[in-house]
Amino acid sequence: MKIFCIGRNYADHAKEMNSSVPEKPMVFMKPSSALLLDDKPFYYPEFSQNIHYEVEIVLKINKHGRHIEPKYALSYFDEIGLGIDFTARDIQAECKKKGHPWEIAKAFDNSAVIGKFLPKEGLDLNAIKFRLLVNGTEVQTGNTADLMFDFQKIISYISTIFTLQNGDFIMTGTPAGVGSVKIGDILEGFIGEHKMFECEVK
Ligand code: MG
Repeated sequence: MKIFCIGRNYADHAKEMNSSVPEKPMVFMKPSSALLLDDKPFYYPEFSQNIHYEVEIVLKINKHGRHIEPKYALSYFDEIGLGIDFTARDIQAECKKKGHPWEIAKAFDNSAVIGKFLPKEGLDLNAIKFRLLVNGTEVQTGNTADLMFDFQKIISYISTIFTLQNGDFIMTGTPAGVGSVKIGDILEGFIGEHKMFECEVK
């Protein structure tokens, strides 16, 4: 099982990070040990002083595929979920400055919160509204209408480089509004009115 993540896939988030908008999907991965499921708490890691939340729509891949044409890409998932790409922003800034890989800032244990899933039928994939609340206050809102690379493009592109396998996840990028978490925070993610996850920072 692999977790693919797309960086800078919403222009407003790229802007808030003072980052350029990529010409192709920007892909990185997290290992299976990054998964945090079933509303389990997130334990603040000691190697960082600035862990950020990034709420993201998650796709669950349902079959094996490579070199998938965009027109067939939507058949490679049946369900839409929501999660958090926890990011050690202080470590990431050091990595960026040195031109180093991002793994230690992005792929650490429990850095991929993944909540419940909804069947994709009944959802307008090009207009899924999602949001993140921290301690009851809305901090991020997103709409898949604003994706720079939509689900078809993401799946097709990834599959030209990596074989997609049943059970893989794709975290599709975060909108603007990312910010720091602190111990005691309660993070709640919603797609429309559906509560998809709750995560306490401990
Ligand atoms: Mg992200």
